[in-house]
Amino acid sequence: MKNITILGSTGSIGTQALSVAKSCNYNIVALTAGRNLDLLMQQIEKFNPEYVVISSETDAKLLQEKYPDIKVLWGEEGVETVASLDKNDIVLNSIVGIAGLKGTIAAVKHAKRLALANKESLVCAGSIVMPMAKQYGCEITPVDSEHSAMFQSMQSGKHGEIESVILTASGGPFFGKKAEELTGMKAADALKHPSWNMGNKITIDSATLMNKGFEFIEAIWLFDLKPEQIEVVVHRESIIHSAVEFKDGNVIAQLSNPDMRLPISYAISYPDRVEIPYRKLKLAEIGKMSFYEPDLETFGCLQLCMDSVSRGGNSGAVINGANEEAVKLFLNDKIGFLDIYNCVKYAYDNVEYIENPDINDIFESDKQARACVNKYIMR
Ligand code: NDP
Repeated sequence: MKNITILGSTGSIGTQALSVAKSCNYNIVALTAGRNLDLLMQQIEKFNPEYVVISSETDAKLLQEKYPDIKVLWGEEGVETVASLDKNDIVLNSIVGIAGLKGTIAAVKHAKRLALANKESLVCAGSIVMPMAKQYGCEITPVDSEHSAMFQSMQSGKHGEIESVILTASGGPFFGKKAEELTGMKAADALKHPSWNMGNKITIDSATLMNKGFEFIEAIWLFDLKPEQIEVVVHRESIIHSAVEFKDGNVIAQLSNPDMRLPISYAISYPDRVEIPYRKLKLAEIGKMSFYEPDLETFGCLQLCMDSVSRGGNSGAVINGANEEAVKLFLNDKIGFLDIYNCVKYAYDNVEYIENPDINDIFESDKQARACVNKYIMR
């Protein structure tokens, strides 16, 4: 029986990961939550972890009184502690945002495998995380459905035989719309994703195509690709989750109905495949699949991420920090949909560039990017 710790167990990915891990008979070592005390308590009762972590000290005290047999920790340090436990075979990181980066680093240093949903770790600090994973011998498996599709397809050939990858995108709820139509869009409109039911932040990132930009950067780090090897294609039905073209012209893709439990189960059980409940893919029911070029002019966030790759340094951390701040403001109806891009671009143009950032520079760049967004909206 393998031991698994799930960081961010109360989120969209976390809850699905917990159900997959349980149906695969994994031993749950530790669970971490941000603020959702009620759901964490339900998970404690159902899954009986050895450790739990919650963001606030007050909530941790309450949990410790209620569950004296469980080790209760709190805050960032608590997350780092459980991600560092020697007994973890796998740490699955599904915390949202740069808040997941410290857990990623702890897991990379101590776990045999990091199943990574927190793409922001690579967007902000891919140049630190990937060499560290190599140094400590930690295998990183992707949870993102697109990267899981690439990972699975890549097993049909050698790395040197890869010509290019096709990164598919649903296009989000605003596919086909132009800037004039997007001006008045509110959070409630952007939260209606056509194919996936996800946390609020990634749903907004899908509407701006920032999520696709982050996935572009994530693919470069995870699979050691050059930016010119990645082609983004909008595929509305979300059936082909991505594909790999080999030098001999063969294109290998992974298909399934959109269901995050599939990539989650592959990330934790690889190289084995385990049976989990899922809806069988019936191609005849789908009938047709459609493909389009992404509209990089209207959805500037994707283009910005692509451009940032050649700049490198701290630019991923700046884009991510500014985006987290702007998405928070948008969700609270403080800025409009198109302002998300404007805020991020302002931070990208104004935060000091650092060519070889260390981890402190990454967190500092994140802070500066957030401050820059607030300066931009106060102008
Ligand atoms: P959710 O918002 O649903 O969940 C986020 C999790 O992180 C929750 O457990 C939350 O705790 C916890 N959390 C939030 N802030 C903090 C913090 N400051 N410190 C500690 N824990 C915190 O997000 P998703 O599950 O949608 O996404 C998680 C990650 O997975 C993201 O990086 C996303 O990009 C990636 N991803 C998600 C997909 C999806 O289908 N949802 C698909 C592919 C990738 P609480 O709720 O208790 O406050």
